[in-house]
Amino acid sequence: MSQSTKTRSWIAVAGSTVMGAAILAGCVESAPQASVSDIVVSETSAPAGDAAPVDEAKSQDEKQKTTAVSSDATSSAKEKKMSSDSQSDEIKQEEKSVEKYNPLNAKEAYVIMQKGTEAPGPGGYTMTKDAGTYICRRCNAALYKSEAKFESHCGWPSFDDEIKNAVKRQTDADGYRVEIICNNCGGHLGHVFEGERFTEKNTRHCVNSISMKFIAEGKPLPPKLVKEDIEKEEAEAKAKKEAAAKSAE
Ligand SMILES: [Zn+2]
Repeated sequence: MSQSTKTRSWIAVAGSTVMGAAILAGCVESAPQASVSDIVVSETSAPAGDAAPVDEAKSQDEKQKTTAVSSDATSSAKEKKMSSDSQSDEIKQEEKSVEKYNPLNAKEAYVIMQKGTEAPGPGGYTMTKDAGTYICRRCNAALYKSEAKFESHCGWPSFDDEIKNAVKRQTDADGYRVEIICNNCGGHLGHVFEGERFTEKNTRHCVNSISMKFIAEGKPLPPKLVKEDIEKEEAEAKAKKEAAAKSAE
């Protein structure tokens, strides 16, 4: 009895360490998968030479990957469930019909349009604790309330909940992480991770500061920019930004 309790609690610790390592690696764009496995092995081989927790941690890791790469149908069903389970209330925001979203500079376009990742660190909104709302840099859609922000020490702003219907989840191009994009303009925000036990909601939206703009409480939110022909203009904008980014190099 005491033996099994001991083992179980150790697994929990190992699990969170492994998850922590995976999260850090996971946040970094195109992090090599091998380094994550290396961390898994070195972390789990340290205590007491008991093989069981290693297997436990590995199978947990594999289960996660399997879940992430499951078929589109399954993941979209899961996405629906995730969004209905926990989401902050929808907020009232004026809408404005426009031909173009907010202009982006080269750095912003790299993250928002080309799905890049900002370097981690205490800059941007990582350490911001003020009350207010985080909106999409590109279209002004309200994404996160400051109440959902927490300190994850991962180097990026972290939220455990989104404003209802503001964020869309999709499988990342890497095939295993879950990418988050603005539900209004499709701009890249970052990734979402579940099961890390940082907060009760057990969810971490790892968001690039540059994808957002903070509006302090009491200040009016700018209207959400809504575009009709998004696909066509996005393709044009992307081509333009890419050309601009190339000439800027
Ligand atoms: Zn947006």
